[in-house]
Amino acid sequence: MKRDTAMIFNIQTMSTEDGPGIRTTVFMKGCPLSCRWCQNPEGLSLKVHLVHDRLRCIGCGTCRENCPRGALLFTEKGIVFSPDCQGCLTCVGVCPATAIRAIGEEISVDELLARLLQDRPFYRNSGGGVTFSGGSACCSTNSC
Ligand code: SF4
Ligand code: SF4
Repeated sequence: MKRDTAMIFNIQTMSTEDGPGIRTTVFMKGCPLSCRWCQNPEGLSLKVHLVHDRLRCIGCGTCRENCPRGALLFTEKGIVFSPDCQGCLTCVGVCPATAIRAIGEEISVDELLARLLQDRPFYRNSGGGVTFSGGSACCSTNSC
């Protein structure tokens, strides 16, 4: 990861469950714990990871043909991404059925701040603000 960046997997606006007022909740990726009751397992890994939706997939093979690492394995249970995957996201871009989704985004502090400040009027008028959730806010930055 670059300096002054964080890995996130969601920015949820208009949140009323994560603190006082109207808030924006930032879900950070990366957590060293593996709690049994984890509500956001997609936030455990610090890396971007890929999810294949079998119901959307039309089996065209375009993703496999375009993968520079040969990292897509077609199995009876759907596509599995091998450890050779380098996270280039080519397969996400070429899939005609949007059947592959990337979970995770490396975002700069400046860009994150710009997005968060879009809802500043709501924070001011409701006594709200921003909540960092996870994953773990501490483990999703380059400070760890
Ligand atoms: S992200 Fe890139 S390397 Fe990984 S499976 Fe997709 S195309 Fe292949
Ligand atoms: S490109 Fe998309 S639709 Fe085609 S096989 Fe891959 S995941 Fe399925």
